[in-house]
Amino acid sequence: MEKPELRREFLRVGAVGAVALVWGTPLDADPACEETEDNIEGPFYKAGAPDRETLLEPGTKGAPLVVTGTVMSTDCKPLGGAILDVWQCSADGVYDNSGYTLRGKVHADKNGRYQLRTIQPPPYRVGEGRYRPAHIHLKVSGPGVAVLTTQLYFPGDQYNKTDSAFRQSLVIHPTDGPKGAKIASFDFRLRRA
Ligand code: FE
Repeated sequence: MEKPELRREFLRVGAVGAVALVWGTPLDADPACEETEDNIEGPFYKAGAPDRETLLEPGTKGAPLVVTGTVMSTDCKPLGGAILDVWQCSADGVYDNSGYTLRGKVHADKNGRYQLRTIQPPPYRVGEGRYRPAHIHLKVSGPGVAVLTTQLYFPGDQYNKTDSAFRQSLVIHPTDGPKGAKIASFDFRLRRA
């Protein structure tokens, strides 16, 4: 005769397991570690950016901005060895498509912590009377997770409202930091591959 407790346990695990199979999410998925929204890659990604945590070079124009945070999986595990492949336009709204100005691969530490030093990008014109709001592009990758292509946006940009790619969940909130730099924090949460 089957013990009632065992039967209940089987039913519980069975039901959760079935849901997990359907949705492809781990059993310990935590709503606090909800996957970071992806976003369009755009036309200016270029592979082969140098490994560096600062995109600032002598003479780089623009207001300094530091973005820090943790890269983790959607089951809330920090992803040591994660890489953030970052690209953005200059203070003049131009991408460097011949070299690697304002492009770089930032490596997270063993606890998934990263720090990116860059400049505040401006909005830029994409056509007759059309602009993209200020944003930073990233491809975030790590061991055992799917690559996330996304963008970070800024609050109060006049073009946020009209941009079809803009997502509120991807807005960072820079505040005054040391040495005149703005600092902002953003955690990336990547789905298991
Ligand atoms: Fe862009």
